[in-house]
Amino acid sequence: MTAYPSDAPASQALLDRALAVTPGGVNSPVRAFRAVGGTPRFMVSGQGPYLTDADGREYVDLVCSWGPMILGHSHPAVLEAVQQAATRGFSFGTPSENEVALAEEIVARVEPVEQVRLVSSGTEATMSAIRLARGFTGRSLIVKFAGCYHGHVDSLLAQAGSGVATFALPDSAGVPKEMAAETIVLPYNDIPALEEVFAERGADIAAVITEASPGNMGVVPPLPGFTAALRRVTAEHGALLISDEVMTGFRCSRAGWFGLEGDAGYAAGAPDLFTFGKVMGGGFPAAAFGGRADVMAMLAPTGPVYQAGTLSGNPVATAAGLATLQHCTDDVYTRLGEVSDALTTGVGEALDAAGVPHVIQRAGSMFSVFFRDGAVTDYDTARAQDVPAFAAFFHSMLDQGVHLPPSAFESWFVSASHDDAAVDRVLAALPTAASAAAAAFATIDR
Ligand SMILES: *Cc1c(COP(=O)(O)O)cnc(C)c1O
Repeated sequence: MTAYPSDAPASQALLDRALAVTPGGVNSPVRAFRAVGGTPRFMVSGQGPYLTDADGREYVDLVCSWGPMILGHSHPAVLEAVQQAATRGFSFGTPSENEVALAEEIVARVEPVEQVRLVSSGTEATMSAIRLARGFTGRSLIVKFAGCYHGHVDSLLAQAGSGVATFALPDSAGVPKEMAAETIVLPYNDIPALEEVFAERGADIAAVITEASPGNMGVVPPLPGFTAALRRVTAEHGALLISDEVMTGFRCSRAGWFGLEGDAGYAAGAPDLFTFGKVMGGGFPAAAFGGRADVMAMLAPTGPVYQAGTLSGNPVATAAGLATLQHCTDDVYTRLGEVSDALTTGVGEALDAAGVPHVIQRAGSMFSVFFRDGAVTDYDTARAQDVPAFAAFFHSMLDQGVHLPPSAFESWFVSASHDDAAVDRVLAALPTAASAAAAAFATIDR
C-alpha cells in the first residue's frame, strides 16, 4: 500500500516561492490547506483519475478541479477539441460557432432554459443573474440561504459556504453594509422562515437564489417539498427564482439537479433563471446564466440590463465545454453513480468499523461525509461536526495517495475515468484513515 512521507519538499519549495508573491501562496483560499494544516500539493499533471505532484507522487483525485473534470483529466476527445480550437486562434472578440453550439447543448439539456448568455466564471454568472432579476422586477432585495455559496459576489457572501464556511467567517470584509442590507439570509430547508419573510417584505424581493442542491456546506439536498415551496412562494409574490446549478449542473444528471428533481421538486413550475459553470467549461473558464426568454431579453443589447465580457464565449474554452458535454452520455452518468455507490459504501463501512460518528449525504454522484451523528439539513447542523477528525482522516488519505477536498465543508467529486483500480486504491486506504479519525475524536473527548 502507498505510504508517502507527510512532508512534501518540492511542493513546499514552490509554496515558499508562492508565499512571497501571492497572499497565502494560493489563488483561491481553500487550496492553501489552512483548514487541515500541512503543505498543499502543487500538481504538475493529471491523467484520468490521477494527479501527480511536484514530488512525483501519484494521487487518486477526488476533487476533480472541484467538479469540472467529470470525464477525468486530459480526456482524449476534449484534448483534441482544445488543440484544434487553439490552432484556429485563441480569441476573436467576435461571435463564433462554438458559443452557439455550447448554448444549444445547454438549452437542449435543461428543459426550462430557453436562452443563455455565456460568461467566464460561476461568480460572473450569479452576479449577472442577480442584476438581471433586479432589472426585470425593479426590486432590490435578494434572499439567499446560509451555507450556500454563489461565488464571491459582494451581495452573496453573507453566511456563505465553501471557503467562507471552511474558515468559519460570518461574511467578508469589504462588502458595504448598505449592500449587505439588500441580502436576506435564511436557514436552508426552512419553509416557515421563507413564508414569513415574504409575508413581510415580499413586494420588495427581486429574487430568491439557492443552490439547486447545496454542495458548498457539504452536500445538503433539499428536503421533500422545499424546492416546490421556493417556486410557489416566489411566484405568489412576483419574485424570480434563481437555481444556482454551477456545481450540480450536468453533474447530478444530464440536466443537472433539475433533471433529478424535475417536476417533483418544482411542483408549481420551473425556476426562472439558472446559473451554470464547472462541468460546462470542461476545465476551462466558461460559465453561463439563462432561463426564460422574456427575462433574458432584458439583457443588453436587446434590453437595458448591461452585461459583457472580453473573453465571454472564448473559442478554446467553449470547445472544451462542448466536447465535455457531448461526452457526458448516459454511460458516463451510470459510471459516476457506480463509483459514488462504491465509495460511499466503503467510507461508511470503514468509519463504522472504527467507531467514528458520521453521516454521508448524497446528491446524484456528489456526496460528502459529515463527522457527526444525525442528518444535516442546514448550515447549523453542517457546522456541528468534528473538523479535527476530518483533518486527521484527510491527511491519512493524502499520505496513502488519495486527494480529498481539504475541507470538511466540500463535496467529493468523482469522474467517469475512475475505474475499478482507482476505486480500489481509495477503498484500501479507508481503514487506516478511519482509525486516524477515531484517534482524533478521542483526543477531543478527553
Ligand atoms: C463554484 C460555485 C460558484 C462559483 O463559481 P466560480 O467559477 O468559482 O466563480 C457559484 N455557485 C456554486 C453553487 C458553486 O459551486
